[in-house]
Amino acid sequence: MGKWLEGKPVAGRIREAVREEVTRLLRETGRIPGLTGVLVGDNPASRSYLRMKEKACESLGLRGRILALPADVSPERLRAVVGELNADGEVDGILIQLPLPKGFDTQEVISWIDPGKDVDGIHPMNLGLLLQNEPGPRACTPLGCLELIAAAGVSVEGKDVVIIGRSLIVGKPLAALIMNANGTVTICHSKTRNLNEVAARADILVAAMGRPGFVGPEFVKEGAVVIDVGSNAVQDKALVLRLFGEDAKRLKEIDDKGYTWVGDVRPEVIDKAGWLTPSPGGVGPLTIAMLMRNTLEAFQRRHHLI
Ligand code: NAP
Repeated sequence: MGKWLEGKPVAGRIREAVREEVTRLLRETGRIPGLTGVLVGDNPASRSYLRMKEKACESLGLRGRILALPADVSPERLRAVVGELNADGEVDGILIQLPLPKGFDTQEVISWIDPGKDVDGIHPMNLGLLLQNEPGPRACTPLGCLELIAAAGVSVEGKDVVIIGRSLIVGKPLAALIMNANGTVTICHSKTRNLNEVAARADILVAAMGRPGFVGPEFVKEGAVVIDVGSNAVQDKALVLRLFGEDAKRLKEIDDKGYTWVGDVRPEVIDKAGWLTPSPGGVGPLTIAMLMRNTLEAFQRRHHLI
């Protein structure tokens, strides 16, 4: 039987370190690092993610702000808004909340952000720096995965690491980070053959697919560290019962809100794994903590403090 690798205490330590540094910066420079989240359209999940990030800023003494634009804003107007944020000396970090409404070219919009203010670490230049193993902002969720692995007391050096998922915000940057830390990486995706056999070779398995409860014990090597990045809103009670068992809290959430959050990994994996992150409560808190740290570091880089 493995141990649950809870995200909150790990995220709490990172947030505390950010808070202390922000307080010191304010005392010594009189300035406060600022993050602006851009919301295009009115996707309720995106609005609530941004609100969480804004609250996290407030709680750490950072300046957090949400800039909301209508779904039918023109690409020219959005580009002008990003340009204004790039030029604004009070803005250290810019975050475009994804997904953008249909019709926008996400990669193009990201490329408009000043790379030094790209706290999501997904500007093409920052992804290039990552591949070169040169300093620069790194994507928050992959950074959070590394923090969790370290919190389990496991070094990635020399380990077989399997990542299921190859998105630009999770799987690909995580693979590069692990390569840079001397791990041996395999990336899997929807065309991978014998997925469970490949996954079961991993000392460290990361599931980032967006498929509720897809990963069961047959994917897991005895004693492996399993990081569940998946965060899926599920409405179907029968599905929750089948994959996640008689979980009174989740079933009540479906009754109350119409959905509940589940990961990509089934809880029974804990019987085989050495460590397993819960979802929710594992990677999510780390993603926000790393965003706060990235905002602080963007400020420090802009002012030549690091
Ligand atoms: P995404 O862009 O949809 O990518 C999903 C990846 O999983 C793709 O590479 C896809 O393969 C692969 N995949 C899907 N079904 C598969 C299957 N049956 N077998 C093998 N591979 C499969 O998703 P994402 O943005 O990376 O997010 C992934 C999950 O992480 C979602 O649940 C998301 O909500 C969650 N997430 C959580 C956080 C957090 O902070 N907790 C942050 C980011 C994302 P192909 O490339 O072949 O299509």
